[in-house]
Amino acid sequence: MKYATSLYYGGNLVNAIQCKHQDFLKIIPMCPECKEPVFLRQASKTASACWCHFKGSKSDIALCELRVNSYSDNKRKRLANTARNQLLALLRKHFWKVWHSEPNKIKTHELNEANLLTNHKSEWKTELYKIMWWHHINHAENSKQMLEFYINHYLVETRNFTDGMKGEDNVLRDLEKCYQESTLLHRHYQQNVVSVVFDFLSTAKTREITCAMYLLAIHSANTMDAFNLGDNGILDLNLLKTNKDVRFKLTENVLISLTVAPWWDMLREVI
Ligand SMILES: [Zn+2]
Repeated sequence: MKYATSLYYGGNLVNAIQCKHQDFLKIIPMCPECKEPVFLRQASKTASACWCHFKGSKSDIALCELRVNSYSDNKRKRLANTARNQLLALLRKHFWKVWHSEPNKIKTHELNEANLLTNHKSEWKTELYKIMWWHHINHAENSKQMLEFYINHYLVETRNFTDGMKGEDNVLRDLEKCYQESTLLHRHYQQNVVSVVFDFLSTAKTREITCAMYLLAIHSANTMDAFNLGDNGILDLNLLKTNKDVRFKLTENVLISLTVAPWWDMLREVI
């Protein structure tokens, strides 16, 4: 049959002809109807690639195949929507847990939060949040295009991407991992998850989370000497207010960290 549900990709359907052997080893495919595990039969000279139930399956295989092969566009859209809503529900409940579950991030983020959330005066934070939330919402469309660009182009050409990022060890490691896993199918679902995460970060309800991401980005930028921070290590908010390049640089840091984060692995940690 044409489609399997991928547990790894949060219940999204995967078309057999788009799935490489390398993908198959990680996506945990199931029959969308009976939920039994299935395997990928590679394309041959006479037949396209397809998903098959295992021998000895207790399901009515013919019925499963008939149903799955006749999925309409609407049915597939409905299933994609269900997967998206499940993903949003997970993010709403566990965003920080998911974000921190990435092993490379834990150390820096513990440091970030301990330093940033306690060292900065609350007026500073309130002002930062005001500036960056305004910027975030007003440039959301632009940011979405940038995310797509990063995923489509840079994950394929990791070497080019990492050239300007010396010293950012966590990001480099994430990029390396993304690059190794970067099959066409993986990029498609990475784009899918990043787009859902971005939408999640662009609603009024998630303002605090989104602004905290900018706060953390200042810290990672700090290690890159990208900003002229004062002696106290605090970003001059007047600079942020008056200089849009600084705001965009900060946004870029957030977007890059969203692009390269191994979301599906991280999400699996909390499911
Ligand atoms: Zn089945």
